[in-house]
Amino acid sequence: MPGGGTQLTQGARRALRRAARRAVLALLSGAFVTSGAAVPDLPAALDSPAAPLLPQQELVPGGVALVTLDTPDGRAPRATFGEQRVLVVRVQGKWLAVVGIPLSQAPGHAQLRVHEGTSAADTAVDFEVTDKQYSVQRLTVAPRQVNLSAKDLARVTRERPRILRAIGTFSESAPGTLRLVQPVPGIRSSSYGSRRIFNDEARSPHSGMDIAAATGTPVVAAADGRVLDTGRYFFNGNTVFLDHGAGLVSMYCHLSVIAVKPGEQVKAGALIGKVGSTGRATGPHLHFGVALNATFVDPALFMAPLAPPTDASHDGSG
Ligand code: ZN
Repeated sequence: MPGGGTQLTQGARRALRRAARRAVLALLSGAFVTSGAAVPDLPAALDSPAAPLLPQQELVPGGVALVTLDTPDGRAPRATFGEQRVLVVRVQGKWLAVVGIPLSQAPGHAQLRVHEGTSAADTAVDFEVTDKQYSVQRLTVAPRQVNLSAKDLARVTRERPRILRAIGTFSESAPGTLRLVQPVPGIRSSSYGSRRIFNDEARSPHSGMDIAAATGTPVVAAADGRVLDTGRYFFNGNTVFLDHGAGLVSMYCHLSVIAVKPGEQVKAGALIGKVGSTGRATGPHLHFGVALNATFVDPALFMAPLAPPTDASHDGSG
């Protein structure tokens, strides 16, 4: 789209300023619950160009929590959510945990554990998760992709640990930014989290963003990273996983072509593959997944908003 790049950049800046303002309001209204009583001086800092570009906070299942950590010394605290390490970034002298909230998270109290280097005990930091009603999406695919044969089921069972291993990767170097580039131009469906009914049978909710694009359209890395794994999976088709550091992992599915190899370093915007419809897909599109602390969250929170939002007739299914 001609001129789209400039608009997106300005849009991204505006979105960040809006997110920072929302964070200020959330903090002032007590939506952030921290282990300290004082209101931290973080929020104004988020508006600073020197601050890492943060995702938008949405305290719902499938969303992202930005939780300020009160740590006495300058060292990065180690934070865990459930069994998983959590991404921690430094913003203007304060540590901030960027927590992926699983779609399966029950609304109510959620608890982060913070482990400090000097202390044997860990502390709990609570945040509140509110309910979100996601839409229902009905899709029609080949029957063999819904009720699997014993052979296909065995294949899916074999593939699952490899996928979980990729999205559960935690490497120590933190990402330089938490804002992601849209990996392919096109209309984004806002179907993240939607309950999927395939051929009248309920299946897992949609864990990523579908972007409609023609077969062969170049797919680029959403941020600097390392190729964790590539493979051809029953549901996801040809897939690339990128590790951006500290538990931020992105996933690109249904590719017609994979253009990278595991271990390669890629820059944001570098070609990693081409759009296709391999695996369980109703047509060519990119399924884009973003994981934090081993859970897929809404990729839109990491990207500049586009207007108007769309549920699009596009119904790529994977
Ligand atoms: Zn999808």
